[in-house]
Amino acid sequence: DEDESPSKKLVTDHSVKVARHYNDRQDVGLAARSRSRIFFMRNFNNWLKSVLIGEILEQVRAAGSRQVSVLDLGCGKGGDLLKWKRGGISHLVCADIAAVSVEQCQSRYEDISRRSHPSERLFSAQFITADCTKDLLSEKLDDAQLMFDICSCQFVYHYSFESEQKAEMMLRNACERLKPGGFFIGTTPDAFELVKRLEASDSLSFGNEVFKVTFQSKGSYPLFGCQYHFSLEDVVNVPEFLVYFPLFEHMAKRYNMRLVLKQRFSEFFQEKVKKEHHRQLMMKMMALEPFPSHGKGHQATDTSGEYSHAEEH
Ligand code: SAM
Repeated sequence: DEDESPSKKLVTDHSVKVARHYNDRQDVGLAARSRSRIFFMRNFNNWLKSVLIGEILEQVRAAGSRQVSVLDLGCGKGGDLLKWKRGGISHLVCADIAAVSVEQCQSRYEDISRRSHPSERLFSAQFITADCTKDLLSEKLDDAQLMFDICSCQFVYHYSFESEQKAEMMLRNACERLKPGGFFIGTTPDAFELVKRLEASDSLSFGNEVFKVTFQSKGSYPLFGCQYHFSLEDVVNVPEFLVYFPLFEHMAKRYNMRLVLKQRFSEFFQEKVKKEHHRQLMMKMMALEPFPSHGKGHQATDTSGEYSHAEEH
């Protein structure tokens, strides 16, 4: 807006950058070399989300919920739709700031619905384009009474730590419509690890040939708005913000949330891979060909970061 103060404008610009980045990603034509480099990482992330989602659904069911409703906060292009289908949920609300991603998510849902056998009852769904750090999702729900068993926020929450106001609104959207006993699950970069690596570096960046993280300064880290730039080959190139987890945990208490589990990916992997069915899913996902020669749809050329179609094969 014309009348926005410069500081407000600065804050707004980051959301615009993030939305533009994710909207544009559909057109990225990745070189084969890049695809293979990030292929296993994406499959690993997808495995991790599958296990997390599967286990939380077990807990929700064990607590007696039959009709499970889920909010996918920052759903992207719908990479987790098949995970929710496999989990047999009843209703899904998908929200994201990137309108093109939400459209793709909706058409992916319609595709899944068309391909589903009539005996399989696919969950109903609503798709919302919204900046979840600013807009109140409860005002946009088709069913104003809807309460969620689970809010899933995968690789998204760190964008909100740009300011206290934004982090607070994202958290409100995640938690305010959770049923008592409901779960907020998510994945986000580990701020402690990022700062540790930055402090160990003799510049403002660290990374390897695949990814690069660049800070603007080091030595002091504000609780909100501590921005770094993350790039992953040609796929991701976007400003992100450190999430100081103890603060996040403290903020969540306002919504009567209690921390049940927090693990690094490596710890999660080591624990879950001990279970036979998780290990089998991992083998299946890791065995996927990065460059299928024929007839496997778009699983290897889809740059949205989602290979979850393949999980079902
Ligand atoms: N959750 C999806 C997944 O796991 O595949 C997508 C993750 S992608 C790394 C991050 C997503 O967060 C993008 O789709 C982006 O548009 C969304 N996002 C970032 N800021 C947001 C905001 N303020 N409100 C809603 N979505 C946001």
